[in-house]
Amino acid sequence: MLSRPGASVGRHDGGMSGRFAPSPSGDLHVGNLRTALLAWLIARHDKAGFLVRVEDLDPVVSSREAERRQLDDLIALGIDWDTEVVRQSERVDLYRAAIQHLTEAGLVYRCYCSRRQIRAEIDAAAQAPHEHLPDGAYPGTCRNLTDRECAEREAAGRAPALRLRAEGQQIAFDDLVLGPLSGGVDDVVLVRADGIAAYNLAVVVDDHHQGVTQVVRGDDLVWSTPRQILLQRLLGYATPNYVHVPMVNGPAGHRLAKRDGAITRRDLHGLGWSDHTLLRALARSIGIEGAETATAAADLVASFDLATLPRAPIPLERLLGNDDVV
Ligand code: GLU
Repeated sequence: MLSRPGASVGRHDGGMSGRFAPSPSGDLHVGNLRTALLAWLIARHDKAGFLVRVEDLDPVVSSREAERRQLDDLIALGIDWDTEVVRQSERVDLYRAAIQHLTEAGLVYRCYCSRRQIRAEIDAAAQAPHEHLPDGAYPGTCRNLTDRECAEREAAGRAPALRLRAEGQQIAFDDLVLGPLSGGVDDVVLVRADGIAAYNLAVVVDDHHQGVTQVVRGDDLVWSTPRQILLQRLLGYATPNYVHVPMVNGPAGHRLAKRDGAITRRDLHGLGWSDHTLLRALARSIGIEGAETATAAADLVASFDLATLPRAPIPLERLLGNDDVV
């Protein structure tokens, strides 16, 4: 089920709207499900709209089957949405128009560097060009290439990526969970060398066109936010509120991975967990009390309070360790 009857096409009309924007590259794990539930609860607690966007721009890792399973997982927890689910792969005209706007403003340049070249340059540089830029920031190798130098590289068969001329700007913002933050913006990729719009550009364009006013996502993405805010300003878009939430970690404190065992809803079904059990475990991990009888996300809205969300990453074992409810 992709949409509800009568839903408007992919845009929340007026008012506030949250969103969940998974990449359909595999099953959602409990950390993703927890973030989705949080995004939904924050929106619904504020009586805001909610939408789901499928971030399937990379055809190599995306699949319709993974998309279907991800949407099934959300529905099983009672997470609903108000507008038709959109796929980024079907919105390339919007990304193209944004690139054209930035290009006309003189803010885009062609870059022929491979990842390996960029890494080697960063390693070789005695010090970073802008000390406040994030680790791995693009060193600006192609920033001042002449048309002739570009033509030579293209004649040698190299396709350019397009980068933003960010001028190392520093962007400050207030995160509803993490507080005031500030980060530098490097010359982020806007279009990859294979012609596909890059993550930061597509997210900014879609959040704007879909009327998203509140971005809730895992705190692994927090350093993308200064880049996205700069892009919003350059494109004349409003900046939404940001809420970066702590992640669920694997046993050694690393990001969740398949090797960590039961990490998806289907894995847990295999261990005898019901969807209600999973929902209650997620609710407890979010700091919601009295979730023992909850059978759908809607049962949690009244008792949800962002102020009681634990601020530290939660270990998988603790999230799943509530064997009294299995
Ligand atoms: N598609 C991204 C992911 O699955 C999330 C993008 C976002 O929330 O801004 O990691």
